[in-house]
Amino acid sequence: MESVKHLQDYDIDTRFPATVIASERITPEESQEEVREIVLEISRPDFEYQVGQSIGVVAPGGEEFGAKSHFRLYSVADLPEKKGKKQRIKIAVRRCFYVDEYSGESYPGIASNYLCDLKPGDEIQIAGPFGLVFEVPREANANLILIGSGTGIAPFRAFVKHIYHHVEDWHGRIWLFYGARSGLELLYMNRWKDDFTQYYDREMFEAFRAVSPRPHWADPIAWDRAMEERSAELWKLFGLSNTYVYVAGIDKMLVELDQVFSKIAGSAELWNRRKAELRAGGRWVELVY
Ligand SMILES: Cc1cc2nc3c(=O)[nH]c(=O)nc-3n(C[C@H](O)[C@H](O)[C@H](O)COP(=O)(O)OP(=O)(O)OC[C@H]3O[C@@H](n4cnc5c(N)ncnc54)[C@H](O)[C@@H]3O)c2cc1C
Repeated sequence: MESVKHLQDYDIDTRFPATVIASERITPEESQEEVREIVLEISRPDFEYQVGQSIGVVAPGGEEFGAKSHFRLYSVADLPEKKGKKQRIKIAVRRCFYVDEYSGESYPGIASNYLCDLKPGDEIQIAGPFGLVFEVPREANANLILIGSGTGIAPFRAFVKHIYHHVEDWHGRIWLFYGARSGLELLYMNRWKDDFTQYYDREMFEAFRAVSPRPHWADPIAWDRAMEERSAELWKLFGLSNTYVYVAGIDKMLVELDQVFSKIAGSAELWNRRKAELRAGGRWVELVY
């Protein structure tokens, strides 16, 4: 796995154009959160990517923001697809707002608003692909605990699809925990797009939802119920040498998870020791933003 990088460390000089093929809102209209699935087509013949990677988007920036362009990363949200000789890539983008802690004022995030406002036919500049954060474990009987919040479900959607469609002898357990502030924001797990249903009849696949009982943007995600109900089994899995824990989403979920897992472990000390073991073995991997 690649070590943590800062945005300025990425090669964004090698940029190339991508055309917007589709942009679809994947959260219901009544949800306050707007997440769009955007399909991009890349004509560069040598462009290849894999699930587990991300692409860079170069959003033009007005002078008032002090930079000519803004570079941001987005996870690959589906299996690679080719139309003729051209690669297509799907990303899921949440329209973000930056809230000033002092004034409480809300400002639109530059790159996500730029992406969410695009229309089919528009051309943008992208870079990458970058990283291969989540890799399929070598052991076909590995236990995978995938924990995603918000748009953090996007890489896991691609990852689970990849395993079940392309890893032939996979017979490991996959437990997917998905956290959102409200049921309306459970991406790819709602009545409009329920991609995970196709795996529900697999004996070793289970998906659990963790939804906040008080859906407000600043509320923590209620991981407790989904995880504590399975605490004995989770703790047993954490202790096995073939268990991998992959985490993706907004960074504050790490604190929330530490609290829940400390409770499951019996103390913060026990949990920190177990997490350090998992991390040292490359079996705890995070992608947070
Ligand atoms: C490896 C990697 C993969 C990423 N994958 C995705 C992805 O698949 N989909 C996606 O929407 N974003 C993803 N992001 C975040 C993305 O790169 C941008 O940071 C995000 O779109 C906000 O950029 P902005 O310019 O609009 O707003 P900024 O002004 O940069 O940020 C606005 C605020 O939004 C918060 N924020 C950023 N991203 C999110 C998010 N997705 N959900 C909730 N709050 C957020 C920030 O902490 C900040 O407070 C990823 C980031 C990294 C490092």
